[in-house]
Parts: sequence; C-alpha cells; structure tokens
Amino acid sequence: MQNNVRHVLGISGGKDSAALAIYMKSLYPQMDIEFYTCDTGKELDETYQLIKNLESKLGVTIEKLYAKTADHDNPFDFYHNLYGGYLPSSNARWCTQKLKIEPFENYIGTTPVISYVGIRGDEDREGYISTKPNVQSIFPFRQNIWSEEVIGKVLKNDNQNSLLTLYKEFLSSNLYQRAADIILTPLSMRYGQNQKLKALMDLGVKEFNHVAFHSLKSSSLPIALVDDFPLLDNESLLVRDDIFQILRESGVGVPAYYEEIPYEVNGQTGKYNRSRSGCFFCFFQRKIEWVWLYEQNPAKFFLAVEYEKDGYTWMQDERLEELINPLRIKQIKEEFLIKQQNTADKFRSNRLIDILDAEDEGCLACFI
Ligand code: SF4
Repeated sequence: MQNNVRHVLGISGGKDSAALAIYMKSLYPQMDIEFYTCDTGKELDETYQLIKNLESKLGVTIEKLYAKTADHDNPFDFYHNLYGGYLPSSNARWCTQKLKIEPFENYIGTTPVISYVGIRGDEDREGYISTKPNVQSIFPFRQNIWSEEVIGKVLKNDNQNSLLTLYKEFLSSNLYQRAADIILTPLSMRYGQNQKLKALMDLGVKEFNHVAFHSLKSSSLPIALVDDFPLLDNESLLVRDDIFQILRESGVGVPAYYEEIPYEVNGQTGKYNRSRSGCFFCFFQRKIEWVWLYEQNPAKFFLAVEYEKDGYTWMQDERLEELINPLRIKQIKEEFLIKQQNTADKFRSNRLIDILDAEDEGCLACFI
C-alpha cells in the first residue's frame, strides 16, 4: 500500500461505520487505515462509548476531529452563538458543514485520500461526505464498490476500446464475446449506466473491479496512484442483519439506543428507539424519537429544550415543551403505532430505522 495515498474511515457513531471499521480491520489488516470521528460536542453518550469500544477491541486510535473554535469552546455551542442562536435545520444545515465536513477537510488537506464509507448493499443511496477532488469514496459493503462518478468515467462511450483490451486480459475467453457486446452497446436514453454496469458485473464482479481499476489509471483519482488494491477481489454484499452480526460477534456491541423499548397506548403495544447516531438534539429526529428522548433520557431532552429561545425551535411546527404534553405524547405514540403497522405490511418490518430508511432522510457524515 503506497504512502502517498491516505486511507481514511470516518466513524459517525452509527452502526454501519462502526461495523465497517471492524470489517476492514479484520479483512485487510495490512492496510494502513486512519480512523477518525468528527465530534460536535453534542453526541450521544452511546456514541462516545462506541468509539471507546472500537478503540479497545480493534487496538486502534480513532482521531477526534473538532471544528475550529475560540478557546476550545464546545464546537456546536461556539457556532450556535456565532450564528446568533439560529438553530440548524434540514434547509440550513450549518452544523454538518461546520462541525463535520470542515474538520474532515482540514484533516486530510490536499493529499490524495481514499475514504471508506459504510453504505450497505441493501441501500440505494450514495450522497457525499466531501466534494474535494482529492477525496475518493469506496463502498466496501456493496458489490459495486465504486461511486457513480467513477462508474461514469469507466463506462463512458469513448472508453470502449480500453475496456475491450482490459476485458481480454481479465475475463475468461469463453465470456469475452458477451462482454464485448455489452461494452460496444453505447450508453443512451434506452441503455443507461446502471443497466450496463449490472450486465458487466453479472459476468464477474472481480473481473469488473480489475478492469475498472486499470481503466482509472489515467485518471486524476486517488485510486490511480495505488499499485495494489485488495478490495478488487471482494465480492461481498452486506445488508443490515450482517451489520448487527458484525457488531455483536466482534464484542464491540450495538449502541444501546438502537434497542427497541415497548410502550403501551390504547391497550396496544408499540416499540420505539432512537434510529440513528448524531447530536442528541438532531433536528432530523422524528416526533417519536423526541418522545423517546424525553422518556428515556430526560436530562438530554431538557438540554435540548434550553436551545429553543428567541423564536428558534428544533421543529418547525412545535416546540419541545408543547410536545411533552401528556395528550400530545399519547397522540404521537398512537400515530407512530399506526405507521409501524402500515410499514410492517409494506416492508415486512416495523422498526423505526426501516421506516426512516424507506423515507430516506439524513446525512452521511452524521448517521452512517
Ligand atoms: S447530527 Fe444532526 S444536528 Fe448534529 S451535526 Fe448532524 S445534522 Fe447537525
């Protein structure tokens, strides 16, 4: 592994990035991977515990990155004051930029970086952590480890000759003609990038990876500077159950907030939990998660209440003090129970995390 390319893996505090750290360390112990976490100063206690567990089980140090502040102030509070008490929201997410992305970008500087990201094989999303040109994301839990942008470079119509040559080298001769037919079918409105990618990967995941790796040698991507990349031979596809299994079997454990807790409403039993990592007051939380925070961790809930002043609130339509009215809590629990029942019918799961995944909200830097 070359010294001129850095390999980094960000731990958000969520289950997927934690499992990825364990996975990479056990499958590729020879790789010199730097582990880091961007600490907003307002993470859940379980996140800090997870980081300690990972450090001790993996025998690594996880670099703690903080936003630049005056006099080592709490990062979130420093920027919150700087912005005059303005609370972040999904439309004005200054927190992610200031507390997660900027510390990461300062950390990596201008060195070419390969960043390993824990998007699972059962997720249909990509997103970004940094748009800096010296950073390339790799997704080891998916069969397609490459980003959409990279696939675009490999499969573009004017790269056909290079692909034909490389497939001759890496694919067995009895499959070559099929590969050539696929490669020579140009991308068009009727034959999209994903369709072409799937057709080639169906002929061999490893073979596609080796072809892509060599095809990218002439690019300015960090991977072009690497002589040997062990993930080319990895054909695994890991889904949610695999992630929980990795966490449990490694001894690192699943963050306690994922554990579902039963609640009673109208003689029926629902279950709630916190679905994702991130700041304890994160505005991405659903109402039922605020109720969970109030009932399961009231100290943190009332810290969140203290931020609601001068007309700024975490939710657009309701203040936290209104949400904890007993009648309102009952209503939120009832509504969530119905949603769970509907989701169970639709997705064969009633877990909050599945409901949220189905609705696809959140942010890679905070929740993976
Ligand atoms: S967890 Fe939520 S509040 Fe915290 S930095 Fe991320 S988006 Fe912002």
